Amino acid sequence: MTVLHDRAGAGSTRDEQLHDWLVESRHDISTGTVVYVCCTRCGVRRVELQESPWLPPLAISRELPQRR
Ligand SMILES: [Zn+2]
Repeated sequence: MTVLHDRAGAGSTRDEQLHDWLVESRHDISTGTVVYVCCTRCGVRRVELQESPWLPPLAISRELPQRR
């Protein structure tokens, strides 16, 4: 799996940082918490896995464009 390039990517300033993620829902699973987030600016959604409260969440899905 190559899903670790988000958020931790220092030096890369793509439009990733322009997203303003809003948590829509979260679900506890055995390996942490799955968090569904939606960008309040452009409506893009993605799924993150937060393995512990003191670690930043990792994106585990692609960014999904807003559905119409
Ligand atoms: Zn956005």
